[in-house]
Amino acid sequence: MDFNYQDIRKDFPILDQQVNKRPWVYFDNAATTQRPLPVVEKIREFSLQTNANIHRGTHAHAIRTTEAYENARDIVRDFLHAKEREEIIFTHGTTESINLVARSFCEKFLSEGDEIIVTEMEHHANIVPWQMACERHHASLKVLPFADNGTLKTELLESLISDRTKILAVAHVSNTLGTVNPIKEIIRIAHSHNIPVLVDGAQSAPHTTIDVQDLDCDFFAFSGHKIYGPTGIGVLYGKRSWLDAMPPFLGGGEMIDRVTFEKTTYNELPHKFEAGTPHYVGAIAMGSAIQYIENIGIDKIASYEHQLLNYATDQMKALKNLKIFGESPEKTGVICFQLDQIHPFDLGTLLDQLGIAVRTGRLCADPVMDHFGVTAMTRASFTFYNTIEEIDSFVAALKRIRLMF
Ligand code: PMP
Repeated sequence: MDFNYQDIRKDFPILDQQVNKRPWVYFDNAATTQRPLPVVEKIREFSLQTNANIHRGTHAHAIRTTEAYENARDIVRDFLHAKEREEIIFTHGTTESINLVARSFCEKFLSEGDEIIVTEMEHHANIVPWQMACERHHASLKVLPFADNGTLKTELLESLISDRTKILAVAHVSNTLGTVNPIKEIIRIAHSHNIPVLVDGAQSAPHTTIDVQDLDCDFFAFSGHKIYGPTGIGVLYGKRSWLDAMPPFLGGGEMIDRVTFEKTTYNELPHKFEAGTPHYVGAIAMGSAIQYIENIGIDKIASYEHQLLNYATDQMKALKNLKIFGESPEKTGVICFQLDQIHPFDLGTLLDQLGIAVRTGRLCADPVMDHFGVTAMTRASFTFYNTIEEIDSFVAALKRIRLMF
């Protein structure tokens, strides 16, 4: 690894603590990431030194917060390589971003008898909003399955597409299998049938370079709290042509141009989709988080995380009766597994006793559980502030727990 590890770790003081009298090992990064000092300092600055509601004031603090918020939009635009800053909408997170599209796009473009395609490995956030839209519009959901090794059966996509398909929604990276999906290829196929594609980037934005113009995706969603920023803030990127054509999602202040009781006209992009007071401190702090990882270098982060993934996979596979779910050749640092017959809840609790935080349960992906015929899984997920030594402690803990059963 060629970035200064000690310095990075110093930026995340939360990691330097004990849980159950052991050094805390945080392997729940796919659920939420920790925030580095510059992000915490930004929140502090915009709480203790500068605060006023944005866009509505002529006074100094209102101008400062507005500038910082709009600057965050430029940071996100650069980060996603979007063509225009107006294509960046701040939301409360990936879930809201997807709901925005499922509500607003479908209101305009989905009719009775139409179809929407999702994949079998989606997080519930990229299933349920589409199901709800299908119910509202009497349309139906079609599902692209994945193979047992966790790769999507992209070769089946053409056979799922019909002239009634109105949109395709797919995760860039699966939150359970860790699979990096071939979204460029999926988008190419969908576009050859004039079908727009929404990419759920919740698990990819923190770990890979994103270029929405190169991908040519129509929508891209991600969350601040999974990219070392605050909770309650997220992003929807949408191509201007779609966003212009879509009706507003929420009504209220800021999204309007002129209101009378007879008729209301709507604001320009991006404000048309940002009703009410946004989480402007969150947006500003998320901007700092993005700058933080860009300063380290996303490619360096990705390559180090790959080393962690490969090392952990090898160590875990060496354990008898440990099954890993999802072994796609293209993966990020997410490992879902089952150890012997130990129930994931027991395993998670015992790991916690040894100071190690993992996630257990259905991981907001019931169809993935159903695919493998299990009721729950255990998930360890790594990021650039984790270490080989932490993986060693984790594997030693697994060995120890197995002996107890
Ligand atoms: N999609 C994926 C792939 C996710 O991993 C998550 C979060 N676990 C979401 C969507 C939802 O993100 P949020 O809860 O931040 O809205």
